Amino acid sequence: MSAVDLINPATGDVLRSVEHVDAAGVDDAVRRAGAAQRRWAKLPPAERAAGLRAFAAAVDAHLDELAALEVANSGHPIGSAEWEAAHVRDVLTFYAASPERLCGKQIPVAGGLDVTFNEPLGVVGVITPWNFPMMIASWGIAPALAAGNAVLVKPAEWTPLTTIRLGELAAQAGLDPDLLQVLPGAGGVVGQRLVTRPEVRKIVFTGSTVVGKAVMAAAAADVKRVTLELGGKSANIVFADCDLERAAATAPAGVFDNAGQDCCARSRILVQRSVYDRFMGLLEPAVRGVVVGDPRSRDTEMGPLVSAEHRAKVASYVPDGAPVAFRGTAPSGPGFWFPPTVLTPARTDRSVREEIFGPVVTVLPFDDEPDAVALANDTPYGLSGSIWTDDLSRALRVSRAVESGNLSVNSHSSVRYSTPFGGFKHSGLGRELGPDAPLQFTDTKNVFIAIREEP
Ligand code: NAP
Repeated sequence: MSAVDLINPATGDVLRSVEHVDAAGVDDAVRRAGAAQRRWAKLPPAERAAGLRAFAAAVDAHLDELAALEVANSGHPIGSAEWEAAHVRDVLTFYAASPERLCGKQIPVAGGLDVTFNEPLGVVGVITPWNFPMMIASWGIAPALAAGNAVLVKPAEWTPLTTIRLGELAAQAGLDPDLLQVLPGAGGVVGQRLVTRPEVRKIVFTGSTVVGKAVMAAAAADVKRVTLELGGKSANIVFADCDLERAAATAPAGVFDNAGQDCCARSRILVQRSVYDRFMGLLEPAVRGVVVGDPRSRDTEMGPLVSAEHRAKVASYVPDGAPVAFRGTAPSGPGFWFPPTVLTPARTDRSVREEIFGPVVTVLPFDDEPDAVALANDTPYGLSGSIWTDDLSRALRVSRAVESGNLSVNSHSSVRYSTPFGGFKHSGLGRELGPDAPLQFTDTKNVFIAIREEP
């Protein structure tokens, strides 16, 4: 065990220190989780459902505390943090209905009865990034528990506090403390150990594409199941026939939400050339109007970046001489601030091709529908995206043509717990959320029972 300091990103001050688990601690947690999982899976489905409902109720009773923790640890504006805490409660409530609905199938066959069972995998590892800590943890925790598994969560080093608190609330709600364990620590230690322990039967990894590929390769040694939720470089495609005022007014929220530290950020705005100048004229006041500041204030729309290290990475995409069209404002002084920034680079520029994961958006003109689709798909990623048009046929044609897992028309919506979420291409593998998520934490067992012929 070693203790590591956490920094409040809005002030640069040390918030508190957190003990890190080492490899031996992971091994011990895996052992205890295995025993807890066997007990949990034996419970009647209605009891597991009641356990998840109690967990949801405990979260509901601590929404303000969870939100305040996220504000302090991650710099999320208070309104967003409150929404995230309520989302965790809702995810738990939604999947509390699953234990009693994992029905399997009865399949007609000759000579007997054939039934399938959705067997839990056993112990599941959930490795999360720092951008939406408690929300992303809940997307793995809730359906995995609902399907009868135990869960070990490795939160990101920079932002473990809300996930640690969720673990405490689960135990407080009456769940076996070994059933859901939160293991703060380094990716190369705790994360890697979870991926390489054979008793851990599945890894849900959310993070960068580069680490996700390494996790997938290491998991192959045990034919371990993986769900991967990775990076993005999503397009916001604005056609000339749309409500241009609305498209421009909402574009900043589509990319600058959570200071652009959002895998679904629409970080490439593609605008039909015939309305490009008008769109830029409308976008400028919208960007300058984004309220950036103290995340504890209810007026704040955008907080700081998560760390000094991450701010330096984001800043590298806006060097001296970068094609800055216009920028918003940001506080000066302590904290890891970066103003909303709009670039108009060439199509081949690094800022157009790489995930920046900060409040920097590129705007590119396109000529016609085929050009827009080609430009949107000219990336290894395929997570999210938006299409602005009042032509229903075009909306459907382009939705089918863009290689991406989550698209919205005339809005920037991405994540609802009741609908599936995940990426195409290098943005991921498998799907989270939606009605089928618990099945991602089961293996199908087929049982044939012979029926003797009538004597
Ligand atoms: P990251 O560097 O890949 O880290 C993600 C998690 O993996 C962290 O907990 C990290 O631990 C851990 N890790 C690092 N090395 C590991 C290893 N060798 N084995 C196992 N685990 C390891 O990503 P990040 O910077 O935290 O997050 C930003 C990225 O996440 C962006 O690319 C973003 O697009 C992506 N993301 C995707 C989604 C989605 O749903 N598709 C959602 C959110 C974020 P440490 O904290 O110790 O580094």
